[in-house]
Amino acid sequence: MDNKAPAICVFCGSSSGARPAYAAAAQQLGRLIGENGCSLVFGGGNNGLMGIVARSAHAAGARVLGILPDFLRRIEVPLAPESEDLVIVPDMQIRKQKMLAAADAFVLLPGGLGTFDELFEVLSISQLKVHDKPIVIVDTEGFFGVLRPLLEKVVQEGFAHRNIEALYHVVKTPEAAMEKLAPLFRHAAR
Ligand code: AMP
Repeated sequence: MDNKAPAICVFCGSSSGARPAYAAAAQQLGRLIGENGCSLVFGGGNNGLMGIVARSAHAAGARVLGILPDFLRRIEVPLAPESEDLVIVPDMQIRKQKMLAAADAFVLLPGGLGTFDELFEVLSISQLKVHDKPIVIVDTEGFFGVLRPLLEKVVQEGFAHRNIEALYHVVKTPEAAMEKLAPLFRHAAR
C-alpha cells in the first residue's frame, strides 16, 4: 500500500430518508472518515445523505472527491468549491467507473434506486473478481434487512454460489464499518 489516504467510497441516498437516524449515520460516517485520515469518494452532490457525508467528512479534514455527471449538475448540485475536488464526467457509467477505480473500500448507507444500483454493481463485479475491495453495509435501523433474505433466495434457487455471502459485511453502525476497514487506514490515522 502507498502512503495516500485510503479512499472510502460512500454510496447512499441523494435524499435524506424518512428517519433522523439516517442523517445521523451519514454525519457520523463522514466525521469518522476524516478523523481516521481517510479520503471520501462520492457522487459529488450536496443533496440528502450524500451531502451530509461529504460536508461532515470535509469538516473533519478529509479530502472529498466528488464525481458528477454533467447532466446531473442542476439536480445534484455540487458542494461549495472549497469543500470538494469535483470531477465532471459525461455520464453515469463513467461516474461509476471512476468511483470504483478511486476507491479502496465501499461503504453503503441507506438510499434509493441509485444506491442499490451501486451496491449490486460492486457486489457483482466482486463476485467476478474484477475487484476485491471491502464492501461494508451499514444497516441503520434495519434498512438493509431485506438484503440477506433476497441473496439467500438467489443462492437457494441456484443462481449464485453460497460464497457470495463472503463478498460483503453487514454492520449496525458507522463505527463498526470503520472498524471493519481499520486494516486499510490504521497507519494513516491522525
Ligand atoms: P438514490 O439512492 O437513488 O438517491 O441515488 C444515489 C446516487 O446514485 C445519486 O448520486 C444518483 O445519481 C446515483 N445513481 C442513480 N442511478 C444510478 C445508476 N443507474 N448508476 C449509478 N448511480 C446512480
